[in-house]
Amino acid sequence: MIDTHSHIYCDAFDEDRDEVVARAQQAGINHIILPNENLKSVELLRRMHSQYPDYTSMAVGLHPEEVRPDYLEELNAMRHMLDSDEFIAVGEIGIDLYWDKTYRNEQMEALKIQLQWCVDKDIPFIMHCRDGMDEILEVMDSMPRLPRGVFHCFGGDAEDVKRLRQRGDFYFGVGGVVTFKKSTLPALLPEIGLDRIVLETDAPYLAPVPMRGKRNESSFIPYINDFIAQTLGVTPEEVSRVTDRNARTLFGLDAG
Ligand SMILES: [Zn+2]
Repeated sequence: MIDTHSHIYCDAFDEDRDEVVARAQQAGINHIILPNENLKSVELLRRMHSQYPDYTSMAVGLHPEEVRPDYLEELNAMRHMLDSDEFIAVGEIGIDLYWDKTYRNEQMEALKIQLQWCVDKDIPFIMHCRDGMDEILEVMDSMPRLPRGVFHCFGGDAEDVKRLRQRGDFYFGVGGVVTFKKSTLPALLPEIGLDRIVLETDAPYLAPVPMRGKRNESSFIPYINDFIAQTLGVTPEEVSRVTDRNARTLFGLDAG
């Protein structure tokens, strides 16, 4: 099993990061992908990755909630980082208008710039979307070519899946939310199809049932894996096998 989205580098894990990794390995998690937040957090990702070079991979990008008036300077610095090939994806990027719509236009411009990096470098995006699907589609429609990528912690409906698929063959990140009692995501899983699902925690947030409310970590991935298996009527091994293959294909990771 691969955790395609963990913020294990953040300070919520400063006290016990190595133990959290050990628990993940014991739980059968064979790789963790680290999505970036802003220019400052890149150093935290690098520190984590240098300790676990084979077990982790890094993305770089500006999170939509981190878009401020000086976002072009942050993006410029990040763009240069992509020349080194130390990053396997651009993320997390996207649109988040849930708390604050002040920088809506800047978020859209930042998204467009970063999606173009993916096209130029032939690497995938990790997309964050909260109250921003229309904006994301508008940005996508303004581009001549779109890269591959994943809609992390996907919270859309069947219509959103359809609208996205009219534009590209994307992957959908499924995490703890799918196990929540009121989630509409389980009903959407057959529509998405196992072939386009990747597993994720979004640690430290959104821990799955029965760990809901606790700090999330990669060792909780089996709860999500097994819930998907039950929902789709396949074995947990099948979900692990296919979602691993999906993640390795999308992110260009070596098999094994
Ligand atoms: Zn995240």
